[in-house]
Amino acid sequence: MTFHRPGIIRPPSEWKSYFLPLTSGCSNNTCAFCGYYGSKLQMRDVDDVKREIDALSLFMRNGVRIPTVSNVVYAIAQDWDGKRVFLQDGDALVYPFAKLKEVLQYLNEKLPSVERIAAYATPQDILRRSRDQLIELKDLKLSIFYMGIESGDDRVLQHVGKGVKRQELIEAGKKAKEAGITLSVTVILGLGGVEGSEEHALETAKILTEIGPDYAGALTLTLVPGTPLYEQWEQGKFHPISPFRSLEELRIIIENSSFTDCFFSSMHASNYISVRGNLPHDKEKMLRELEAVLAVRDPSLLKPEFLRGL
Ligand code: SF4
Repeated sequence: MTFHRPGIIRPPSEWKSYFLPLTSGCSNNTCAFCGYYGSKLQMRDVDDVKREIDALSLFMRNGVRIPTVSNVVYAIAQDWDGKRVFLQDGDALVYPFAKLKEVLQYLNEKLPSVERIAAYATPQDILRRSRDQLIELKDLKLSIFYMGIESGDDRVLQHVGKGVKRQELIEAGKKAKEAGITLSVTVILGLGGVEGSEEHALETAKILTEIGPDYAGALTLTLVPGTPLYEQWEQGKFHPISPFRSLEELRIIIENSSFTDCFFSSMHASNYISVRGNLPHDKEKMLRELEAVLAVRDPSLLKPEFLRGL
C-alpha cells in the first residue's frame, strides 16, 4: 500500500528539525478533542524510510537531488542544520521496535551529525516498551519524547477518550525519565469544561508534580470541527471555559505544582497569554504576570481568536 506522507504537525520546539515520517495517523485515535481522532494508522516500509535517509544524506553532503524523491524532502532539507530529527507522526513510538532500531541505526550511520531524535509517544507506547528497550532507543539518540498528559483528572481523561488513567500516565512518564529520555509533556487548559474546571486544574498540577517532566507545555483547548468534543459543544453538552478562566486554570496549575527542575511554558499558539520560565525558580514571576492580566481582565491583552492556532 502506498504510504501517504502526513502534513507536519510538530511541537513548537522542533521547528529546526528534519521531519521523517515513520507512520501516519495515530494508534490511539480516540481522543475526542484531537485532529487525529478517527485517523487510520499507517506504517511506512523500512526500505522506504531508508531511501529517504539515503537521499537526505546525499543532499546534505553533495547538494545532489534525486529526481524520483519527493520535493518535500528537499524543501525541508534546504534549511536544515543537520542536528535534529523529528520522527512523524501522531505516535512514532508505535513503530515496531526492531524496525525502529533499524531506522535509528541507519540514520546514525548515514547522518552522523544528528545530535537528537524526537518523537511523539503515547503513554501506551512507552508502557509497551521495556526499560532496556527504551535505553537502547536513547543510546541511538531517540532521546526526547513528547507525551500528551492532557489532564490529571481521571474523569476528564475518561470523558475525552484518552485511553489511559492518570496512574498509567504517571508510570509512563516515570519510565521514560528513568531510561534517561528527556520528557516533554502537554496539558490542555479547558479540557474539563466549565463544570470540571477547578478539579481539572488541581489534578493536573498534581500529576505534573508526580511525573516531574523536563518540559511542560500548557495548550488551550481549541474545538476542532469533526471531533466528538466539537459535536458535544454544538449540542450544548460541553461548555467551554472563557479565555480568562483558562488563565485562572494556568495560575492554579503553576501555583499548585511542585517541580525540582522543569521548563514550563504557555507559548503554544493556542494560548491567550504566553508565560514561561523555569520552575520552581520563576514561579513567583510567572504568577505575577498572570495576576496582572487577571486583575484588569482587559480583552485587548489577550491574543485575538484569529491569531490562535492549534
Ligand atoms: S494519542 Fe495524541 S495524537 Fe493520538 S488521538 Fe490522542 S491526543 Fe491525538
